[in-house]
Amino acid sequence: MWIYLNDRFVPREEARLSVFDHGFLYGDGIYETLRAYAGRLFMLSQHLARLHRSADLIGLKMPVLEQDWPALLNAALTRNGLARPPDRSDPDPEDAYVRITVSRGEGEIGLDPGLCPHPTLVIFAKPLTPYPARLYEQGVRLSIVSVRRNPATALPPRIKSLNFLNNILAKQEATRVGAFDGLMLNADGALAECTASNLFFVRKGSLCTPALTCGILDGITRNVVISLGREQGISVEEDTYEPESLRAAEECFLTNTSMEIMPVSEVNGTRIGTGRPGPLTTSLQGLFRRHLPRFLS
Ligand code: PLP
Repeated sequence: MWIYLNDRFVPREEARLSVFDHGFLYGDGIYETLRAYAGRLFMLSQHLARLHRSADLIGLKMPVLEQDWPALLNAALTRNGLARPPDRSDPDPEDAYVRITVSRGEGEIGLDPGLCPHPTLVIFAKPLTPYPARLYEQGVRLSIVSVRRNPATALPPRIKSLNFLNNILAKQEATRVGAFDGLMLNADGALAECTASNLFFVRKGSLCTPALTCGILDGITRNVVISLGREQGISVEEDTYEPESLRAAEECFLTNTSMEIMPVSEVNGTRIGTGRPGPLTTSLQGLFRRHLPRFLS
């Protein structure tokens, strides 16, 4: 596996960072996770825009210009056999998981970002490990965890930051009770999101999802699902919802870049609908796949 580290590709074994990197010491940095389908990146410009927005919000000077990313990411895929090199007609490569991490860089001890003259950039592209098909067929179980989503006034969700302890604590709590993931409420007790995905549910035929004002990440898959739904004339509501709203839900699912649309069968031991992926969920999964080529570059 080849890793892009700062300004060159190195074998995985040689991809080493300083113990004084502020990403390691303080979680000071940002990241994006992308998915490539047979070498083509999903919603590339949206991921890059979010990455640069995160950088701006923490005052981090990006080491790569926005227009230079596509070539760099394609090189990371090609190097790892996850994109077809130009002028070759090899079979389709596997789908890939691509992660861009940019940390504040190496610097003396102290919180001041001015201590770090150069950010650290790491890009890796590896074959995507798909979630087991059985989860898509049966749906996953969620647990509403006691860990609340970081308030936006403390750590704005518009920054996709390396600080993931909030989500890790929520994940640990869910794992302890045997759930697939933890559903976090915000500080006001309204539904927010899972540890690495956005939440949707269906109520009286409308597709409902917590609004961005609930303090959640503006998930790129969430946006795709909202647009596809609206294009099909499905009513989509973004609002503030109490956790009790899920009791009346006919269907429920999660979205993120690597899992697309994952049905939810149960929340806190209460079955959602029939406990099987419902008709709107299944139809959105089909639409997502049919329209996928529109979103690839
Ligand atoms: N919510 C959180 C907290 C996440 O970390 C992620 C993905 O990393 C998402 C939602 C889903 O976002 P996307 O659809 O852009 O992958």
